[in-house]
Amino acid sequence: MTKPIIATASLAGCFGCHMSVLDIDAKILQLIELVEFNKSPIDDIKTFTKPCDVGLIEGGCGNSENVEVLRDFRKNCKALVAVGECAIMGGLPAMRNGIPIQECLEEAYLRCPTVDDKIIPNDEELPISLDKVYPLHEIVKIDYFLPGCPPSADLIWEALTALVGGKPLGLTYNLIKFD
Ligand code: SF4
Repeated sequence: MTKPIIATASLAGCFGCHMSVLDIDAKILQLIELVEFNKSPIDDIKTFTKPCDVGLIEGGCGNSENVEVLRDFRKNCKALVAVGECAIMGGLPAMRNGIPIQECLEEAYLRCPTVDDKIIPNDEELPISLDKVYPLHEIVKIDYFLPGCPPSADLIWEALTALVGGKPLGLTYNLIKFD
């Protein structure tokens, strides 16, 4: 029997949402039985080798590479899930959205007292910073949103097992409340 295939990526995020996936503890063994991982930092597969059923994305889009990766996920995954607040609304990285990008770069690279080489990196191979950090749904169609910073391991487990099992996401209040 072929297993559903999952891919994951971290864009402008902190990897906390990926840590939450690993936080499902012993259930990770069940997960490995249930699904096959494709492109993901979890297995270090760097490019899609086959079409995937579910793509989990943490982080918003803060640079040109983030947009490229996100579009690649949309193309290769049947269902795309925005995991965590950074993916859903930009999160902490979006705190820069009220400040012009040039000012952000000058603050980070020219005025920061702990930076020795006072130069704004400009190698042509580096991704270009966007004017602001965009939530995923402003760039591509997103099918599901899992709230939290990060979403709890239980929430990720329930959502993932429902999705790969072809069931509706009947997430209970307990899983998505934050008080
Ligand atoms: Fe990190 Fe929170 Fe953003 Fe997830 S939602 S990438 S845990 S800051």
